[in-house]
Amino acid sequence: MNPLPTASLLLLSLLASPSAAEEPKTLLSELRHLRIDGPREWSKFPETPEGDALELPFTSPANDREWTLQLRQQDVKQSWSVTLNGKKIDRLVGDENDMIVYFALPAGAVRQGENTLRIEQENRRASDDVRVGQIVLHPQPRENMLSAATVEVRVIDAESQEPIPARITVLNAQGALQTVGAKSNDHLAVRPGVVYTAAGAARFGLPAGNYTIYAGRGFEYSLASAEIELTSGQTARRTLTLRREVPTDGYVACDTHVHTLSHSGHGDATVQERMITLAAEGIELPIAADHNVQIDQEPFAREMRVRRYLTPVIGNEVTTKVGHFNVFPVQAGAAPPDHTRTEWNALFDGIYATPGVKVVILNHARDLHSGVRPFGPALFNAAVGENLDGWAMRFNAMEVLNSSATQSDIWPLFHDWMALLNRGRSVTPVGSSDSHDVARHFVGQGRTYIRCDDRDPSNLDTAQAVENFVQGQVMVSYGLLAELAVGQASSLPESPKTGRQDASPTTYGPGELAQIDGDQVQVTARVLGPHWVEASQVILFANGQPIREAAISPNTAGDLPPGVKWRGQWSIPRPKHDVFLTAIAIGPGIDGLYWKTAKPYQPTSPDWTPHVIGCSGAIWLDADGDGRRSAAYDYAQRAVVAAKGDFTALLKALSNYDQATAAQAANLWQTAGNSLLSEATSTALRQAAPATQAGFQTYLNAWRENQIARAGR
Ligand SMILES: [Zn+2]
Ligand SMILES: [Zn+2]
Repeated sequence: MNPLPTASLLLLSLLASPSAAEEPKTLLSELRHLRIDGPREWSKFPETPEGDALELPFTSPANDREWTLQLRQQDVKQSWSVTLNGKKIDRLVGDENDMIVYFALPAGAVRQGENTLRIEQENRRASDDVRVGQIVLHPQPRENMLSAATVEVRVIDAESQEPIPARITVLNAQGALQTVGAKSNDHLAVRPGVVYTAAGAARFGLPAGNYTIYAGRGFEYSLASAEIELTSGQTARRTLTLRREVPTDGYVACDTHVHTLSHSGHGDATVQERMITLAAEGIELPIAADHNVQIDQEPFAREMRVRRYLTPVIGNEVTTKVGHFNVFPVQAGAAPPDHTRTEWNALFDGIYATPGVKVVILNHARDLHSGVRPFGPALFNAAVGENLDGWAMRFNAMEVLNSSATQSDIWPLFHDWMALLNRGRSVTPVGSSDSHDVARHFVGQGRTYIRCDDRDPSNLDTAQAVENFVQGQVMVSYGLLAELAVGQASSLPESPKTGRQDASPTTYGPGELAQIDGDQVQVTARVLGPHWVEASQVILFANGQPIREAAISPNTAGDLPPGVKWRGQWSIPRPKHDVFLTAIAIGPGIDGLYWKTAKPYQPTSPDWTPHVIGCSGAIWLDADGDGRRSAAYDYAQRAVVAAKGDFTALLKALSNYDQATAAQAANLWQTAGNSLLSEATSTALRQAAPATQAGFQTYLNAWRENQIARAGR
């Protein structure tokens, strides 16, 4: 072969490389911190932003065909516009995650000579700390940019070796979500850096560069990753294998709070995209919960060919001016309850009259909607679980965790739930996603495991699941599970449970009333989670008070089976009266963009510590042996009646009970017209048992908070 003369080589290389006009032009290489006038949104951002808007002058030739503007954005919550020479190009993506996005600039948008790019917040009602920058102008159309190279990913199950629905997350070399060249279709749901596949296979374009690709399948599965180096024109193929890690046999994965853009009118997930995301996140029992409509997702699950992974349930987020309630199961064709009622009793009458409905969940009770915060201090005494205006508390479940509306402080909703149980109400704790989106707040991140035969996810016994749910036979999950059992069994069954029949007859789980022999109660707990989640602590509560705790470190797992982070036993003295036990496990939040734990939706503080959480349902100990659940309220009521107005006698009776009972008694005593603030009362209280004093103090603190909030109404 004759070597080409040097001059020809030079000419060839000139022809092959883009001309100067086609070279990308960097307009801003760093990231800028922007915020309008107003308080800092997050304390992790500097006190003073670098500007309230970004204005970037640059010179360029005019574009006679579509060009592309690339930028990186972080922490965008409000609406931010992108304008070029005074003309609106688009908005930043309303998503707090770190991402690289691309905007098409139509022919003529870029002028010959001077140009100005401007990025500013449109709606100036709330301050939003954002970072934006790494802005590059590419003189070629967006589609070309994003399809320079091609990736084909297959995701298979380790056991069956078959392709499975999965979420693929694509990060660029800096670790930001990388927009891909693909659109949602009959088997993909696509957002910047996120490709959900219903079929376990995805093909998408990417600009040349280095990437990390993750494949996951929700909470129960492992996480696989691959590094990819792509040059223009190249096609890379990768197969990623996932393994089921978390033993949840005998429980179905339920998300009680699933929205779509198609039927709720906001968010971004069409009902078709929703079917793909549900299958890919491993939700087996999705409850359709669009606002004031009752959608049967069955035809959509079939249309998207994911019906074999799940059993859809018709529900409704009854969205009222006085609270939001998820209700299910709804009979097909039933008329939705009247959501215009503003009185809880009438509202619940309508809800329970809706054919089929057995579950009514009070949603996000500490968030403000239409000016009402159901569990805020103006309406709710958090120490005793009472509504201050006598609203009928007829819901039978409440969200203790909503992964789209996480709380600055994770604990109050859990304590609210435990206070309701102490008040004698039968309330099931719920974790849900409230997802309206494909990727921003994704479906199934918060979820509830319900005890139910789960062997065929396409044919779940909804009636059984609903009945067990109402009984409280559940575990709330947000990256962890806390399993709890009570009884003589020396340990939880080693093999996964398939329902009661496999468990020892003297072992009791959540939602059950445990009969107790002897003067000690054996409590066994396990903390479960996939390898990519860490647990740090598990706490055992009795009637809402912590009584045992254990620290968990990555080494704690030792030779425990995969998916088990910790396992332990506590022996507790038999209580003098009935109590309920629940275990809550926590760990550090997830930074990885494949499952990022989102910032609080309505933050109450600029400080934020993310967590993963698992919470067991409640196990009742029938310590008084009367065959029923007696709540702190029941004992308190008896003690108050028996005291016949004698405060010293009441305190004496309460010395046999716990703090929760004392708090309930304090409320009953005060409600009967007695003062808790008189000198005589204070003096008598100082002689009372420590738990009694603590209960009265907790009640009084909550009551004072109520007075302040109500004075300000
Ligand atoms: Zn809601
Ligand atoms: Zn909702």
